[in-house]
Amino acid sequence: MPLKVYNSYSRQKETFVPATPGHVGMYVCGPTVSGESHLGHARPYITFDFIYRYLCFKGYKVRYVRNITDAGHFEEEGREAEDKVTKKAQLEKLEPMELVQKYTNLFHWAMLQFNCIEPSIEPTATGHIIEQLNMIQKIISEGYAYEVNGSVYFDVKKYAATHDYGKLSGRVIDELLETTRALDGQEEKRDKADFALWKSAAPGHIMRWKSPWGDGYPGWHIECSAMATKYLGPSFDIHGGGMDLQFPHHESEIAQSTICNHHSPARYWIHNNMITVNGRKMGKSYNNQIKLTEMFEGTHPLLSQGFQPMTIRFFILQSHYRSPIDFSSEALQSSEKALKRLWEAYELLKNMNATGSTGAGDPGLDEKVVKLVNEFEEFMDDDFSTAKVIANMFELAPLINSIKDGHIAQGAISSQTLQLLKDSFKIYLEDILGLRFSTSAETGLLDGLMKLVIDMRRESRLRKDYATSDRIRNQLLQIGIALKDEKDGNMSWTIS
Ligand code: ZN
Repeated sequence: MPLKVYNSYSRQKETFVPATPGHVGMYVCGPTVSGESHLGHARPYITFDFIYRYLCFKGYKVRYVRNITDAGHFEEEGREAEDKVTKKAQLEKLEPMELVQKYTNLFHWAMLQFNCIEPSIEPTATGHIIEQLNMIQKIISEGYAYEVNGSVYFDVKKYAATHDYGKLSGRVIDELLETTRALDGQEEKRDKADFALWKSAAPGHIMRWKSPWGDGYPGWHIECSAMATKYLGPSFDIHGGGMDLQFPHHESEIAQSTICNHHSPARYWIHNNMITVNGRKMGKSYNNQIKLTEMFEGTHPLLSQGFQPMTIRFFILQSHYRSPIDFSSEALQSSEKALKRLWEAYELLKNMNATGSTGAGDPGLDEKVVKLVNEFEEFMDDDFSTAKVIANMFELAPLINSIKDGHIAQGAISSQTLQLLKDSFKIYLEDILGLRFSTSAETGLLDGLMKLVIDMRRESRLRKDYATSDRIRNQLLQIGIALKDEKDGNMSWTIS
């Protein structure tokens, strides 16, 4: 079955054909590590994780590149913001790279909680300044960028005269100009719509690099263009990110790469929709940007309890990635219950003995199960419809329960069909949707064991037996359990 994906650039579903048969190059805009990731950030990373997993399942060898934005000049829609990394670092009295490291570690930790597979390459913007400078110079030599007072701007009007600027985001330049306000650097630009490729660094600016135009730092858009080109070439298969990045970020990436590489960068643009909170767009002013640590711990005022990362992942998978999702504590509670129900059915299924089934089964029932299971791939091939796969699983769950309860004899399903059902649940639930779950009995057991181990470690430290306490910590790490000292003197643990 051919895979169809919705290409945001053409605004239609297209059959997915990679440029090199059997291989896929995918670039996804990664986090800006000037702060902690919040709930809104979870969606793109989980979305592109199941897309990555599904492409691998389809037999493609995927090079998945997701960057870390750890430097630069940041632009928000309609206005130019200050260098967020530097500003926050000064506030927290940290070295910028110390701040970057802290939030990068926290981001990696959150990705592990969500069971997201690491990308093949995770380049940092600060590690690719030379590539960015080369691109900027090329754009200048092509006549589409100009330097003013040590800053370099992209000439949007010139580009738009001969190219489809605004096609991805559906914007027109006039509309752009209306929404642009007079801000930093505006007086330097030839046109308000122009965007910065390089910004001159003021004397107090900590993050700065030498360039042919003096000390400065890169524009946000050029970072992604340079890293994508370096690792995936001038034209690659998929460029992904949240819908909010279409403009100005991705529109600018297209313009830069088209001039520099004489190629539109990506053949398929995939964008996930946003998460709203109780019907409202997420924003600082609404105090509804719930940090991921607050989500897990239940410490945000909008939350009635903490939620397991897998509940959040499942909640996101229950909607199509292009549909908006409205978050509320109640919605997450029902996802929590639903996931538990589904997993219980899966556990029952795992313990059913396919070889013990006798007979050819009930043809009607057999047919129904085969149809529902075969639709998993059909739905995923139709622009990654995880919600429909899950809906089919919920149709199959009562049937599994009935077999267990004896309402349907185990032999009513042929051994072949039972095996298909078992294999498909494993592949889709665990390998493609990336879910994992512990039954409450297992969680209770683990909690008890971990309390015992932590107590033993604390006692060994009190005895100044650091060799033992280190051994406990290191061996736990080896099996994927990380210990963490809390401010209150207690110790917590997480499974990576
Ligand atoms: Zn990007």
